[in-house]
Amino acid sequence: MTARRVQPPTPADVTNLLRAVIDPELGDNIVDLGMATGVTVSDAGLVTVGIKLTIKGCPLRAQIKNDVESRVATHPGVTKVKIDWGEMNADERAAVMTRARWNAKENAPATQVPLNTRVLAIASGKGGVGKSSVTVNLAAALASQGLTVGVLDADIWGFSVPRMLKMSDRLEAKVVEGSEKPKMIPNQRAVGKGLLKVVSTGMLVEDEGTALMWRGLMLTKAVEQFLKDVHWGDLDFLLIDMPPGTGDVQMGLARMLPRTDLIIVTTPAVSAQKVAIRAADMARRSFLRIAGVIENMSAFTCEHGTSYPLFGTGGGQNLATEIGAELLGQIPIESDVASGSDSGEPVTIAGGGQAAEVFRDIAKKIISQTVPANEMAGCSARMLETVTLSLGPKPAK
Ligand code: ADP
Repeated sequence: MTARRVQPPTPADVTNLLRAVIDPELGDNIVDLGMATGVTVSDAGLVTVGIKLTIKGCPLRAQIKNDVESRVATHPGVTKVKIDWGEMNADERAAVMTRARWNAKENAPATQVPLNTRVLAIASGKGGVGKSSVTVNLAAALASQGLTVGVLDADIWGFSVPRMLKMSDRLEAKVVEGSEKPKMIPNQRAVGKGLLKVVSTGMLVEDEGTALMWRGLMLTKAVEQFLKDVHWGDLDFLLIDMPPGTGDVQMGLARMLPRTDLIIVTTPAVSAQKVAIRAADMARRSFLRIAGVIENMSAFTCEHGTSYPLFGTGGGQNLATEIGAELLGQIPIESDVASGSDSGEPVTIAGGGQAAEVFRDIAKKIISQTVPANEMAGCSARMLETVTLSLGPKPAK
C-alpha cells in the first residue's frame, strides 16, 4: 500500500498564509496591500506567488522573500515555493500609499506591539528544561547589543521572569497618547546601552502564592491583554516566555501575532526531545514559523576541563534535524546560570563563562537573521513622507 500524500493547499489557503507577511513600513500585510498579485499551486505542491515591490531595489526584498517562502512552507502539502518578482507602476504605488495612509490613520493596531518588532516565542514541551532561563538570558544578551527588548512572561501562573531579572515592582497604568483607556507600562531595566521592558503576572499579584487566583483565568485571555493593554513603545525584539506544553497560548498568538517565530528549548535527553517535538508539531498546526532549537543543560565541564554529558547527548541536534530547523546553540550546565537566575543577575549581564558566550552567539545569530528597523527606510517609508498629505478616497478592502 502506498502512503497517501498530503494534499497541496488551495490558492486561498496560500493567500491566507501570506496574510502573515507584513510590510512593516506600510503597516499591513502584503495581501491587503495588493503586493501579492497571484497564487498558483501545482498538483505536486509547487506554489508560485507573484509579488510586486513598491520599487525594485526595496531593502525589504530579502525579508519579504524569506517570510513568503517560510510562511507558505508551513503548509505540509507544499513541496516548493517560487516567487515571481515584479515592480509596481506609478498608479499601483499611489494606490498602495493611499491604503497605507488610511491604515495609519484608522487602524489602531490590534496589539500594541510595533509592526517592525521581531517577535520570538520561547517554547518547550515540558517544564524544567530552562525555557525561562533561556528567555531572560537571550533578552539580556540582545539588549546588551544596544537593542530594546520586550519580555512578555506568558507563563501566567508559573511565572519566574520577575525574580530572574530582579524586576518585581507592580506595573503602573497610565493614559498614553493615542489611547483613551490607561495602558500598563512595562517595568524597565537598562542593560549596557540597551533596554529591557518586562511584563508578567508576577508584577500584578502580591506574591507568587497569589498567582493561584489566576488559575481560573483563561491563559489566552491574559496573554491577549498583555499584547493589547501594555504600552510597549519602541521595541526591536519581543521575547515571549511561553507556558510549557500548552497549545492554547500558541494558537492565540498565531491568531493575534501571526508573524511570531518559535524557538524551541530542549535538553539533550531523548525523552525531552520527544516531548519537544510536540511543541514543534503545534507550531506547524498553527502555521507558526520555527526560528530554531536551543539545547539547554548540555555537558557540564568540571574545573579540570573534563566534560560530563549528564543528561545525554544529541537531543538538540536530533530535534533540529527532525523538524528541519537550525540548532542555534548548546548551553552548558553551569552553576552560574542557576545562581544568576536566583539572584536576578543573568549570566549574560553579569558573567563571562561559557554559557554566557553561547547565549551571546545565539543573540548575534538572531540579530543577523533580522532586518534592523533603521535600515528599512529607503523604499516605502521614504515614499510615505513625500506623498501629498491629502488622504484621498478610502480604498476598498
Ligand atoms: P523552565 O522555564 O523550562 O521551567 P527554568 O528556566 O525555570 O526552566 O529552569 C529550571 C531550573 O534549572 C532553574 O533552577 C534554573 O536556574 C536551572 N537551569 C536552567 N538552565 C541551566 C543551565 N544551563 N545550567 C544550570 N542550571 C540551569
